[in-house]
Amino acid sequence: MAYKAPVSDMLFTLNRIAGFSRHVDAGLFEDLDNATVEAILEEAGRFATEQLAPINREGDEHPARLEAGRVVLPESWKSAYRAFCEAGWNALPGPKQFGGQELPVSISMAVAELWNGANMAFGLNPLLTQAGIEALFRYGSDELKNRYLPKMVSGEWTGSMQLTEPHAGSDLRFLKTRAVPQDDGSYRVTGTKIFITFGDHPLTDNIVHIVLARLPDAPAGTKGISMFLIPKFLVNPDGSLGERNDVHAAKLEHKLGIHGSPTCVLNYGDSGGAIGWMIGEPNRGLQYMFIMMNQARLGVGVQGVGVAEHAFQHALAYAKDRKQGSVTGTAESDMTPIINHPDVTRMLLSMKARIAAARAICYTNAVAIDVSRHSRDAAERARADAEAALLTPVSKAFGSDTGVEVASEGIQVHGGMGFIEETGAAQHYRDARIAPIYEGTNGIQAIDLVGRKLSLNGGETIRAFIGGLKETVAQVKASNEPAFGGMGESLEAGVAALEETSRWLLGQLTENRDAALAGATPYGRLFGLTAGGVMLARGALAAAREADGGGETPIALARHFAETQVPLTAGLKPAVTEMHETVLGDRAASILG
Ligand SMILES: Cc1cc2nc3c(=O)[nH]c(=O)nc-3n(C[C@H](O)[C@H](O)[C@H](O)COP(=O)(O)OP(=O)(O)OC[C@H]3O[C@@H](n4cnc5c(N)ncnc54)[C@H](O)[C@@H]3O)c2cc1C
Repeated sequence: MAYKAPVSDMLFTLNRIAGFSRHVDAGLFEDLDNATVEAILEEAGRFATEQLAPINREGDEHPARLEAGRVVLPESWKSAYRAFCEAGWNALPGPKQFGGQELPVSISMAVAELWNGANMAFGLNPLLTQAGIEALFRYGSDELKNRYLPKMVSGEWTGSMQLTEPHAGSDLRFLKTRAVPQDDGSYRVTGTKIFITFGDHPLTDNIVHIVLARLPDAPAGTKGISMFLIPKFLVNPDGSLGERNDVHAAKLEHKLGIHGSPTCVLNYGDSGGAIGWMIGEPNRGLQYMFIMMNQARLGVGVQGVGVAEHAFQHALAYAKDRKQGSVTGTAESDMTPIINHPDVTRMLLSMKARIAAARAICYTNAVAIDVSRHSRDAAERARADAEAALLTPVSKAFGSDTGVEVASEGIQVHGGMGFIEETGAAQHYRDARIAPIYEGTNGIQAIDLVGRKLSLNGGETIRAFIGGLKETVAQVKASNEPAFGGMGESLEAGVAALEETSRWLLGQLTENRDAALAGATPYGRLFGLTAGGVMLARGALAAAREADGGGETPIALARHFAETQVPLTAGLKPAVTEMHETVLGDRAASILG
């Protein structure tokens, strides 16, 4: 099944739901216009479809491997990466000063959906290079920026992000990698990093590692972590490559999915220490990492949306082709395409609706980031910044969970053939499964949402966000549009559940924080279902209001989501407010032993 870039759905979400075109029209992004945005997405869709999707299976079937200390990837991946950079895609979000196009985050997230939808293992590489570029651009010295950024922006060199160590995953307090200062201003770095995505590979001549490590006199815990730049090959003053640095891939992990993406154990200092340079100030590395991570987390939510879309397309094509059983009104002897069975139609509708909701959340998040950076009004910038911070853990968790759940349902649509690798349906599921884990597990996202984001600005951010949802619900109800069915009532109940649970959690945060955290994950789901439902309703309102507003599909989709998914929030409410009764009490021990 060939992947089709869902460009019109993406443009609809970006412009009619997340309001991006309005900001473009208002001149927020200098001379960028909406026709250009459309042309970029069309062109990216062509690249994803023609260059990345065809090599997706090959990467899965021929995983990255280590031979005589060198990482091997299929030849087709090397040529696709070259074409990706030559077409300028790597430079799309990069700073203009270093050769990038500096296009808005909303556009870079939309094209990232295409890269990851077509080929998630490939899409990870530019995602991490982009995070490295951002770290260096924001916090690096001019000397480091001038030496490394032009080639990272063009894609001639890639970047890797290195936090994880064997004893430091979600909890980085006990990170051990050591950086010792030298007289020439450089550092010698020793230690081991694990699970490093594209930590070594043959796609480029050099790799720029962004590494967290401790200085010898650093305070214990997270306040003693600094950030370093460590190139695979040292770079001479004239820009040419010098000696191989003392960092080597000791092992590649054998994984459930994303086989084309090398996940490396990297040893630093087998021969005395890798040479690196500090980025920014001592002991502020984790703080820098967390500021940048917001965008990377949104990127992982978008990965989920991309894989889910591919899995949906796969399942839809199969359901139209595969014949089994008969349906009312046809002869007993005839077999019907399985899409005609109500239960299969149900699965496909649920997949499509959940993808649309997750996309709406992620794109709304991206537009909020752009507004927070480009609005001319300081108060609007501050509001958008807070909204982006609130939405980031929801985008990451809801987007990546949607990837897994939709890919799983895609297998179900295929029946037995879904479990057989030949169809490719299983690959989507295996690939999608990592996204709820890396870049901060979804459990950690829920804790971030409840523990930090709910109380932003004294709770004003969540109150304002819910206020915005209520306004949309009021518009839906006031429209009296027959095609909306029970959408208004259903969304109203969802928003009420979100408001009540948010208030309850805010109260618990001061009284019994563990009680709040026990219900954090179901709250994140409740938040995603409600916000996603209301955002789809914004699309439905636009479609009903405007002659060229997208037709009947957005209305039918929003109504379906509101009537079948949003009511799940009623069941999630007690899971938020009552969860602590079992989790924190004796009953947990009596159940778990
Ligand atoms: C394929 C792959 C690629 C990766 N790429 C990179 C990379 O490029 N760079 C990099 O630095 N890392 C990378 N990682 C590491 C990844 O970010 C970590 O695996 C992840 O952060 C979780 O850490 P952990 O594996 O140590 O799990 P743990 O921290 O041991 O967590 C195990 C479980 O406990 C839960 N848990 C842990 N602490 C808490 C808490 N305080 N409260 C509630 N629940 C908690 C978690 O949610 C999880 O369910 C990658 C991992 C994989 C598998």
